[in-house]
Amino acid sequence: MAAQIIDGKALAQQIRDRIAKDCAELLAKKGIKPGLAAILVGDDPASHIYVRNKQKACEAAGIYVDENKLPASTTQAELLQLIAKMNADPKIHGILVQLPLPKHIESKAILEAVSPAKDADGFHPYNFGRLVEGSPVFEACTPKGVIKMIESTGTAIDGKRAVVVGRSNIVGKPAALMLLQRNATVTVCHSKTKDLPAVCREADILVVAIGKAKFVTADMVRDGAMVIDVGTNRLPDGKLVGDVDYEPVAQKAGWISPVPGGVGPMTIAMLLDNTLESAKRAAGLA
Ligand code: NAP
Repeated sequence: MAAQIIDGKALAQQIRDRIAKDCAELLAKKGIKPGLAAILVGDDPASHIYVRNKQKACEAAGIYVDENKLPASTTQAELLQLIAKMNADPKIHGILVQLPLPKHIESKAILEAVSPAKDADGFHPYNFGRLVEGSPVFEACTPKGVIKMIESTGTAIDGKRAVVVGRSNIVGKPAALMLLQRNATVTVCHSKTKDLPAVCREADILVVAIGKAKFVTADMVRDGAMVIDVGTNRLPDGKLVGDVDYEPVAQKAGWISPVPGGVGPMTIAMLLDNTLESAKRAAGLA
């Protein structure tokens, strides 16, 4: 039987509608408009598209965006100065530094310079540490979106076997920690994992974030499992595909998220959510 589809686009729209209502209420009751500083360095075309989409989504929800597009020649010191300014600006509740940064800038130093209280992407070591500890404040947008997608199906995470393929700090590791916090039994796989197909087949919930087109095939998926595909890969013909070989896997899985229209739109919705939550915290409401 074909899997049920987890429609990330539709779920993201519902969440964005709720955020728009909450933003209007915050403005009406407290005179506060949530604000996001979007910082983009250089000319990477994909990054420009991502930031434009995030900006449009913010504006549609009633979130103010302070857009900062800087040339690729920007120095680390200049970028740090801008971040310090945004950290001090009371109109700003979230700071987004679009990655990747040019090679002459040390990303770690930049992400650590963002105030943990405005870390809408959830990449600061303080927020990462809070997640490890089990008391998260800002959670990274992509794995947070993954969890919302799983929860939207009504499937309990508690007690399930979850396998996360990929251990990056922005997707795999935080996704694993969020599943663990919800009482899944979690295995994290990576490029050195032995017999990956066998480990994947143990999963009730399989989250894949490796960046390899159609890597996860049907033989790696248990009948009826839930498969969340985080990957975004461009094929030579320009088509966007995930890390999962969608059609055959959809014949075997119980639930599956598509690419496009799955995790991508949820990531943007979670950025808005984090910015709104931050504005509420600043207003003493959360
Ligand atoms: P990343 O930093 O490159 O990490 C990739 C991870 O996959 C690493 O942990 C790597 O293992 C593992 N891996 C690579 N090849 C593997 C293999 N053959 N078998 C098992 N594990 C393997 O990537 P990322 O930033 O997490 O992103 C992953 C994918 O998600 C990319 O396609 C990216 O574009 C996409 N993404 C999408 C969104 C969205 O909003 N939709 C957001 C973020 C990322 P090692 O650690 O051993 O090297």
